[in-house]
Amino acid sequence: MNNIYGLSLSDMEKIFLDNNSRKFHGKQLFTWLYQKRVTDYSLITDIKKNMLDIIKKNYSIERLKIVEVLNDKDVSKYLFELEDGEHIEAVLMRHDYGNSICISSQVGCNMGCRFCESGRRKKVRNLEVHEMVLQILMIEELINTRISHVVVMGIGEPFDNYDNLIKFFEIINNPFGLAIGARHITVSTCGLVPKILEFSNFPLQVNLAISLHAPNNEIRNKIMPINKVYPLEELIKAIREYLKKTNRRVTFEYILLKDVNDSCECAQELANLVKGINCYINLIPYNETNNLDFYRTNTVQIMKFYDILKKNSINVTIRREFGGNISAACGQLRSKKEEL
Ligand code: SAH
Repeated sequence: MNNIYGLSLSDMEKIFLDNNSRKFHGKQLFTWLYQKRVTDYSLITDIKKNMLDIIKKNYSIERLKIVEVLNDKDVSKYLFELEDGEHIEAVLMRHDYGNSICISSQVGCNMGCRFCESGRRKKVRNLEVHEMVLQILMIEELINTRISHVVVMGIGEPFDNYDNLIKFFEIINNPFGLAIGARHITVSTCGLVPKILEFSNFPLQVNLAISLHAPNNEIRNKIMPINKVYPLEELIKAIREYLKKTNRRVTFEYILLKDVNDSCECAQELANLVKGINCYINLIPYNETNNLDFYRTNTVQIMKFYDILKKNSINVTIRREFGGNISAACGQLRSKKEEL
């Protein structure tokens, strides 16, 4: 059965219209779900019983199961169990500007990035729209606080689940839904060029982040198989297109991997690669995982790398680290649960 949290406001309005009822009941239903947070259709008082029966028959109001919660200082990690027994993760980070959540978009991932725990474990399936929406809704309720920022940087490649992703954005952005501002939403991709181009036409001002992780094809081919399909020249060209259309700034994520992509030469090459692009670079200290042979760059070298970018007038930040103690790196908790 379909799940009600997978429907956008206009989907709900259409159900009422298709059943000879009135459009505004769609907004009422949406409000019951996202503002009044009912968990049972029988609590809805202003929609006629015959319409509620139709909805009940066709759309489940079931939620996901939260099966594990790990807490650290400013971060909590949640392990969800889906209806078919699969597991996904979401991470909540408390910042001074509000709460942000990092959600998963697929069960597993097919991109196969060598350093990534999720890529080690192949995609099982895409997440349905409701499975993305409910990660936010359920955590918000659990902590009883509003979540103001969303990043799609958990397990999966979001642009490999594009249509569901777009609908998810529409639902969480809707002012009658979770009302999360588009500028507070960020999606991260390993670089699926056709989808970057398609995304440049998406009307909401959702932020785009690109997992770059290398300054040239030679290194990128070694650590990110997707680069063999869409090499750097094509990726950069698509990003320029995106910038021209949207007039927005992109983020490049760059994990520093010891002796792989962290030399001073790499830093200079990276600066040359992004020169003239409206971007900022987010340097990410690598979160080591037991299953993979990649290591974190030491702090001295991270600072050297940072300085070279700065000297080249590149906007650069070093990502604040969250959750190393609780296996918060992409896919680690799921692996722990399933590979014990
Ligand atoms: N597939 C998307 C989004 C999920 S990964 C993408 O590739 O962007 C989110 C980010 O976490 C990516 O930049 C990814 O490269 C990075 N990442 C994966 N494993 C990591 C680890 N162990 N430590 C630090 N960052 C990691």
